Amino acid sequence: MTATAATDILGKLVSFDTTSRNTNIPIIDYIEDYLSAHDVKSYRVPDESGEKSSLYATIGPAEVAGVGLSGHTDVVPVDGQDWDTDPFTMTDKGDRLYGRGTCDMKGFLACMMAAVPDFKRRNLKTPIHLLFSYDEEVGCTGVRPMIGEFGERLTKPRMIIVGEPTNMTVVEAHKGGLRWEVTIVGRPVHSSMAPLGVNSISVAAELLGELARMEEELKTEVVDKRFDPPYSTLQVTQINGGVASNIVPAETWFGWEIRGLPGVDPEVYGKRFRQKAAQLESKMREVAPEASIEIKHSSEIPAFSADQGSEVMSLALKLVEQNETFAVSYGTEASLFHHAGAPSVVCGPGDIAQAHTPNEWIEKVELEKCMTFLDKLATWAEH
Ligand SMILES: [Zn+2]
Repeated sequence: MTATAATDILGKLVSFDTTSRNTNIPIIDYIEDYLSAHDVKSYRVPDESGEKSSLYATIGPAEVAGVGLSGHTDVVPVDGQDWDTDPFTMTDKGDRLYGRGTCDMKGFLACMMAAVPDFKRRNLKTPIHLLFSYDEEVGCTGVRPMIGEFGERLTKPRMIIVGEPTNMTVVEAHKGGLRWEVTIVGRPVHSSMAPLGVNSISVAAELLGELARMEEELKTEVVDKRFDPPYSTLQVTQINGGVASNIVPAETWFGWEIRGLPGVDPEVYGKRFRQKAAQLESKMREVAPEASIEIKHSSEIPAFSADQGSEVMSLALKLVEQNETFAVSYGTEASLFHHAGAPSVVCGPGDIAQAHTPNEWIEKVELEKCMTFLDKLATWAEH
């Protein structure tokens, strides 16, 4: 197995603009055709709209629970980013390959696909499952219907390696992410008549104050030195309010999130936020009965901590020839697999520092390391 095949496939994968807001059907068509050209049958798990689909395939004995290799097909937007090259045309600059998704995480998908001919040649006793998901970048939502079919139409893997960029080290824990969207509707009046209106920005400021207090408390609630930073974080991520300098702002919208350590329940903070909002809402309604504060959960990824001494952890460490595992602060599909009873670790090519950035790149040597990893996995699966 060589990284050349992976590089060629990566160029093709990058050429599909699979920003999460777009359909991923063209890339799924491509992957499905590639697999069927190698005589590998795959199964789609479409979403309700038919615009998106996951794909699941098995090489080796069917209906035996084997090792899953998993990755997402979607990428984050390039909007507002300053790129030196076309993000959807992979550019080879010597040691590095540039393009949206090269690192996060089409590089791993390309390696999985490049390894297929070798997997097929082998006499696998333990099957290798290939899992391709969508909408990972918008809260790991797309993988959930596929997990829902584990044990029914799809064999539930005995363990899963999620190939998010870790520089081919083994990641056994990550924080969870919980996000909320808040819409505050007050009453607009001319700003000279402010007391007759309800200023939604002022209400937002009080809520932000409460969030700032919770942020401080989270720093000491649980401290886990495996993580950097070693505590749970809370922050406001987006805000938008007001329309003109002479109108009391009727509507303010903001988003906030908690990235919680294993052992922290972000819902406790969510509940406290709702209580504060309910108090403010009744005050607003004394002036404007139509006023409201609406709070929505926009996404949720549980915190993840693999079971110590699990088969998947020792296998991954053996394949990368390392004896140390790591924890990271970004969420992955590994936590959802883990909670569904498929023990998982995260291990893949590329550095998370390049993910989501303009001029995203991956080092070719990372693809080579990943191909070696998959070659050793196949050897292990033969015995
Ligand atoms: Zn990713």
